[in-house]
Amino acid sequence: MSAPMLTKDILFFQRLLHADGLYLDDLDGQWGPKTEKASLAFDQRAEQIRAETRSFDIRSENNILTLSLKAQRQARLCLGRLIDGGVHARILSGTRTYEEQNALFRQGRFGNPGPRVTEARGGQSNHNFGVAWDIGIFTAAGGYVTDEAAYRAAGAIAMAGDSSATEWGGHWTKFVDYPHYQLKLGLGLSDLRTAFETGAGIAPLTALA
Ligand SMILES: [Zn+2]
Repeated sequence: MSAPMLTKDILFFQRLLHADGLYLDDLDGQWGPKTEKASLAFDQRAEQIRAETRSFDIRSENNILTLSLKAQRQARLCLGRLIDGGVHARILSGTRTYEEQNALFRQGRFGNPGPRVTEARGGQSNHNFGVAWDIGIFTAAGGYVTDEAAYRAAGAIAMAGDSSATEWGGHWTKFVDYPHYQLKLGLGLSDLRTAFETGAGIAPLTALA
């Protein structure tokens, strides 16, 4: 971390580090030696996971690195299955801080331009806890594919052979979300949020390999 971070951003990062079991000190939003040490450990583990799995395009890489370590591994495996299955996929989003989520929520609302892209404010999206990623599908020529059928077909490929670690938004019944994947934690949004915010630990996350 070279750029100065705001207290709320440091707090968010401490929570992510805590969920991975790397930072067990006060969640105080202060960048001290323990946060520094945990941050370095996080980077090292992320690099190990990349080396143990595989690397992707720079955009996917940058989004993968916003995820918790367990999610990084699963996102890499998921994307690898898609690419091996002939799908030109990338990971287009990973973790959003509460601030980033709120900025997204304001788009298309309150006089702001652009289409509405989310119903979730900060803390109301699975993307706010380091466990979720969205894919984008592209043609061989690089064009962005929006066709729902392509995302449904991709989901079948991505989920083949993985019924334990990953949950696909295409299997949801309430709000079907075909580009969306996340760690299968067995926690609802509010439980996940509480665990993330209080530092009580996201036990199922910690238990994952
Ligand atoms: Zn999503």
